[in-house]
Amino acid sequence: MAVPPDFTPPLRLMLDSAALIANWRWLAAQSGSAACGAAIKANGYGLGAAEVMHHLATAGCRDFFVATWAEAQALMPMANGLSLSVLHGVRHEDVAIALDGRARPVLSTPQQIARWRNAGGGACDVMIDTGMNRLGLDWRDDCAALTAGLQIDTLMSHLACADEPHPLNAVQRDRFAVLVDRIPAQRYSLANSAGIGHGIDYHFDLTRPGLALYGGIARAAYAGHIRQVVTPQAQVLQRRTVQAGDGIGYNATFTAPKDMDVAILNIGYADGYLRGFSGTGAVRAGDRTLPVIGRVSMDLLIGDVSDAADVGEGDWLDILYDLPTASAASGLSQYELLTGLGARFERRWV
Ligand SMILES: *Cc1c(COP(=O)(O)O)cnc(C)c1O
Repeated sequence: MAVPPDFTPPLRLMLDSAALIANWRWLAAQSGSAACGAAIKANGYGLGAAEVMHHLATAGCRDFFVATWAEAQALMPMANGLSLSVLHGVRHEDVAIALDGRARPVLSTPQQIARWRNAGGGACDVMIDTGMNRLGLDWRDDCAALTAGLQIDTLMSHLACADEPHPLNAVQRDRFAVLVDRIPAQRYSLANSAGIGHGIDYHFDLTRPGLALYGGIARAAYAGHIRQVVTPQAQVLQRRTVQAGDGIGYNATFTAPKDMDVAILNIGYADGYLRGFSGTGAVRAGDRTLPVIGRVSMDLLIGDVSDAADVGEGDWLDILYDLPTASAASGLSQYELLTGLGARFERRWV
């Protein structure tokens, strides 16, 4: 049966393209003379990688980063004239698709370098680990010798503690600066969202923000400059009156202290609105903030609408999702709040 044209799911993400672009422009300005790229791995941090790429490319962004070749493959048809890097390098299984040439592997081990050389691969990126001990060639090794002869577009490293004033930041920066002098590449890149705020010494030629593009406050100083991009909305499926003493939701963790009105909303932990929001989250009806009460269910959420007499079945409510506030309420990181957003949402760009 064909889906009727007016059919829409009962939950959606309102995605603000103007805010996304404004965040990129602000990060680009903070990056000084360095180009500003965009990390769009994990489906554009949950928003939709293709749409994010489209909006940012329109604004002038030229450099994009994904984690895997499956992610890259989905974006290759739109990558014409853009630079697309695959952060997880090139496994044996990836060689054929990597040789396609529309995206570059970020090589991070001697084995990957050998694999790329043997396959006759062309331009690539290289990741050096300068102290995070995650992906990358060990900075203590002779990285210049290991990478000799490679056609390196971008030589990069990644900061482990950019979101705090940690001594490792300057240590990593200094280690990277030594490699910049020794290893020839078209461009050098170190800073993620939070790294940009450490200033010009961290910018090199290209910055790679992710979180802050999508509304994450990667450093306290970004507040007031970075705009919220994602607002989940869910539809009210039922409104009911409960009596003083009634238990609400699974395990009756909330007991009504008085007669109350509650609304049952079509969103739950299967959509990424995890149970950490039980009793701590909030929904918005107009300018009123209404508390989430009881446990978040798999597909449902209960809000106290005693003070919102106008809210009824079929109405749409905003879920409070300003990332720092939602992070404090739920105990989830701002990254998890974005990347956990599920498949059942309609993703509606405005
Ligand atoms: C994810 C990632 C980024 C972006 O980091 P944010 O903290 O989201 O700005 C940049 N570089 C690398 C290597 C990454 O893995």
